Amino acid sequence: MSFKDLKISKPILRAVAEAGYDNPTLVQEKTIPLVLEHKDVIVSAQTGTGKTAAFALPILQSLLDQQDAPKKGKTIKALIVSPTRELAIQIEDNFKTYSAYTNLRTTVIFGGASIEPQKEVLKKGVDILIATPGRLLDLHKQDSINLDYVETLVLDEADLMLDMGFIDDVRKIERLCTREKQILLFSATIPHKVEQLANSILNNPERVEV
Ligand code: AMP
Repeated sequence: MSFKDLKISKPILRAVAEAGYDNPTLVQEKTIPLVLEHKDVIVSAQTGTGKTAAFALPILQSLLDQQDAPKKGKTIKALIVSPTRELAIQIEDNFKTYSAYTNLRTTVIFGGASIEPQKEVLKKGVDILIATPGRLLDLHKQDSINLDYVETLVLDEADLMLDMGFIDDVRKIERLCTREKQILLFSATIPHKVEQLANSILNNPERVEV
């Protein structure tokens, strides 16, 4: 199986080839088609399996596929919530790599850094936002973020996110993404509390285990 077989198109294929990826990993093979079908998915996969590209590539592809549609303006269409700043930065890095030959805009926001420059970037408009929960809610409270147009919400490292006490924040963020949306939940393990969260916010999810 190749990335082309998975319906990834030229601009992304080129970036993926330049990153040195020859073939999709198992989690990518299983997850990418489901994301492209706009299904909700629970993926249990460890870091190192290629799980970031398993959501990043089909999200970028879906956004490219829509670019012929009437422009919706400067709205956030994909939101990736990550428990730590380091992970958030890594995810942004991956999105930037894969989208190098597209006009899709990605940015990352996290706590512990000054908020004003983050507001400025958001004001210019981004398609894909990667965020830690606390800073995301702060910026939303300050009216710097509109989540009404989010089409895909990714909860990455959900087990870690709950261990770090972000459950209420995650639920709040889910509610702030008001439109009907696809939710992708990634977690190394699926303990009871992750299962409970998934049951309460995902819609008839497919499951991928690697
Ligand atoms: P992750 O599990 O997302 O943390 O990815 C682990 C590492 O695998 C990262 O350094 C990725 O750049 C790399 N990677 C992701 N997908 C592939 C692929 N299909 N082929 C080779 N390397 C990959």
